[in-house]
Amino acid sequence: MLKVGILGGGQLGRMLLQAAANYPVETFVMENDAECPAAHLCHHFTKGDIKNFDDVYRFGKQVDALTIEIESVNEDALDKLESEGVKVYPKAPALRIIKNKISQKEFYKNNEIPTAAFVATQSLEDLKVQENFIPAVHKIAMGGYDGKGVQLIRTKEDISKGFDAPSVLEKMVTIAKEISMIVAVNDNGETALYPPVDMVFDQDLNLLDYQVSPAELPDKTLWKIEAIALKVVKGLKSPGIFAVEMFIDKQGEVYVNETAPRVHNSGHHTIEANFSSQFDMLWRTMLGYPLGNTKHIMPAAIVNLLGAEGHHGNARYEGLNDVLKMDNAFVHIYGKKQTKPGRKMGHVTILAKSKQDLVHLAHRVKQVLKVCSL
Ligand code: ADP
Repeated sequence: MLKVGILGGGQLGRMLLQAAANYPVETFVMENDAECPAAHLCHHFTKGDIKNFDDVYRFGKQVDALTIEIESVNEDALDKLESEGVKVYPKAPALRIIKNKISQKEFYKNNEIPTAAFVATQSLEDLKVQENFIPAVHKIAMGGYDGKGVQLIRTKEDISKGFDAPSVLEKMVTIAKEISMIVAVNDNGETALYPPVDMVFDQDLNLLDYQVSPAELPDKTLWKIEAIALKVVKGLKSPGIFAVEMFIDKQGEVYVNETAPRVHNSGHHTIEANFSSQFDMLWRTMLGYPLGNTKHIMPAAIVNLLGAEGHHGNARYEGLNDVLKMDNAFVHIYGKKQTKPGRKMGHVTILAKSKQDLVHLAHRVKQVLKVCSL
């Protein structure tokens, strides 16, 4: 049996392992918390630091193939492992481009992939001389996550809120829709595109609020975003699974926001709503099987279950029975013991034929199901 390692043991690793149960594969996970969501679903768990060269190298030496569930892994170790025969999804050079927002934006520019105009800033002093660029969005180059490394700079007064570290200052786009498209690439360079997902954001928490798939788009826009997503993954020259996040403005222009070189939140619904889920697809890719069918079976919505405001400690899922009674709702609890405000604790996928029903049911789930503390 092929041995496959996953760097990171959060909910993405957990869902990847759930899909692994269908295949002849021996699974390994490394994460620094032995109580993480994926720890109990793999064959072999290793406590270790995914950012540490030696930990990643030692872990990778045991397996035939390696993947990631988060970008912040040590890519130098991945490079060395690959040179010694371990297959890595995604390859280290692709990860290196993506990990740093400055090099990621430069990659789009150099490959003529549409993206919002930008300048790199090294410090707050650098930012101060960019008044002409406002309104803009300041994004920290390394380590930003879930909107935490993003600051809107609407006026000169906002400049002081920027990052005093290497960052990207990007022109503000008047966003009509935020779209994600998941693309799989296998070792032979064959690709499979999932239907686009319409992402709707929570203004306060700046975290994904709910999303609907397939996104309603004119054919012309769909073709445009498919061509752009393909150009992104071809340019990255790596097998694996990628989520290309894009903005569409009021004029129908498309801009790539960012790319994740891994299974992604915007693809959770593919477990129930598409013939081959993003997790199934990654196993097919890593194990050398044919790519799966990305078509949707039913339109879907995803509601994220985030820790409720004011609740810290052992998690309790209020309203769970009511949602479990809904016959087209699929509950995923990630198995994190502790909740805190805004923490991703699970998600619910809803299937329905019409967009109206999906949005209605998504709001109902949001109202009914709350992650509180004991
Ligand atoms: P993260 O990787 O932390 O999720 P993003 O780069 O996706 O950060 O930005 C978070 C959110 O900020 C986006 O989903 C979008 O709503 C908003 N945003 C980011 N870049 C721009 C931009 N150039 N113009 C307008 N809004 C933006």
